[in-house]
Amino acid sequence: MQIRTKIAIQFTIIIAAILIIFSLAIYYTSENFRKQEFYKRLTDRAVLTAGLLKELKITEKDKKKLREANKTFLTKLNAEKVLMFNEKNELVYASYEANSFLFSPDFLNQVRKQKYVENIDWENQVIGQMYEDEEKKSYVVVASASDKYGKDKLKNIRDTLVISFIIGILLTIFLGVIFAGQSLKPIADINEEITNITAYNLKQKLNTGNNKDEIAQLAINFNQMLERLERSFEFQKSFVSNASHELRTPLAAIKSEIQIALENNRTTDEYKIILRSLLIDNQRLIQLTNGLLQLAKSENRDNTLVMKPTRLDELLFKAQEEVLNQNSDYKILIDFDDIPDDDEWVSANGNEALLLTVFTNLLENACKYSQDHQAEAKIKFNDKHCIVAVKDNGIGIAASELGKIFEPFYRTPNASKYRGHGIGLSVCRRIIDMHQGKIDVISEEGKGSTFIVTLPHL
Ligand code: ADP
Repeated sequence: MQIRTKIAIQFTIIIAAILIIFSLAIYYTSENFRKQEFYKRLTDRAVLTAGLLKELKITEKDKKKLREANKTFLTKLNAEKVLMFNEKNELVYASYEANSFLFSPDFLNQVRKQKYVENIDWENQVIGQMYEDEEKKSYVVVASASDKYGKDKLKNIRDTLVISFIIGILLTIFLGVIFAGQSLKPIADINEEITNITAYNLKQKLNTGNNKDEIAQLAINFNQMLERLERSFEFQKSFVSNASHELRTPLAAIKSEIQIALENNRTTDEYKIILRSLLIDNQRLIQLTNGLLQLAKSENRDNTLVMKPTRLDELLFKAQEEVLNQNSDYKILIDFDDIPDDDEWVSANGNEALLLTVFTNLLENACKYSQDHQAEAKIKFNDKHCIVAVKDNGIGIAASELGKIFEPFYRTPNASKYRGHGIGLSVCRRIIDMHQGKIDVISEEGKGSTFIVTLPHL
């Protein structure tokens, strides 16, 4: 069932329930009021009759007079009877002449006991009122009549309520459908807009309306999701094209080296030189593919990564060893800002292999981009974080480039004469992100750079 229909039905049921409750309340209150009012009129009639009879001493002549007076001065009620019974339950007065007046002795006795009784006898309402004269003789006055006028009025009210109820429900259904349709229209619009968005037009955004209500919030969130998707798609696209470009260059170099080697007959030594050169190119290619693999892996943020308490100072020394093994002319100094009292202050919960990659990259870059091929690493800490700063006095980075160097494949213009592919720092940033840390850089072109890794310690 459509939400629109559901809302319309629920809306109608609620309104119908409210209307029924109000109609019943109005009907029963009116009915009660009518009954009480009529009982009061009957009681007035009984009291009046009893009072007059008391004054007239109840002679047959007076009774007749009273009947005449009743007829003349009082508006007659429908099927009205006023009867008076003495102590022996014998009829002493009747408001009109008739042969028999039936009133059960039980009812009369009940009146004597309770002094006042209300009752309903078929169509008629009846009241019985006890009354005592000066000689302490007790009489019962019974007044009964049918409230035809009141009942007609009540029937009128009932019919009006039923008709109003039916009109009210029809109106509610009609308004409910319109109201539900209108409230859900923004969702229907969003639905339509979403169907038009494909992988090829992620730039298209949903209309966020007034930017305030829940539906606007939904559209805003959806747009943000589209932006994230778009960024991810863009990254994939540029990754593939950059990676293939980076791979093509050394492959083309290898190809041309082989072609030149094959052009003429060469001596064994010449072949050896060419093969050595090919080996270097090949090693670079392996390095590049390893970098690409790391980059792809770091993008894939699954929870299967093994994280365990890791000493960052030890990792830094390991990284130093690895870099120096590869490049014997590099120099790396490692120093503590302060000696930690507790090992935990220089330990983080992390993945050893990935953090080693970060430190190796930073140390290698520092040496690579400096004339003196020197790097200085410092370990600092505070009550929350362990900080590793890698400093060099190399070519530095222009202020305008600082924001870009962590993007995959980005290289600053002044670094073009150094070998590299612009992958290392983007891998570093992703790895540090995974460890809930941050990586910053302070640099001045021509003077040197300091890369600062901040990680939460244990
Ligand atoms: P690669 O060094 O292979 O080019 P990286 O991702 O490690 O790739 O570095 C990206 C770019 O950032 C480098 O090309 C260089 O322009 C700049 N860079 C990184 N480290 C330094 C540094 N220590 N000094 C100067 N520039 C640096």
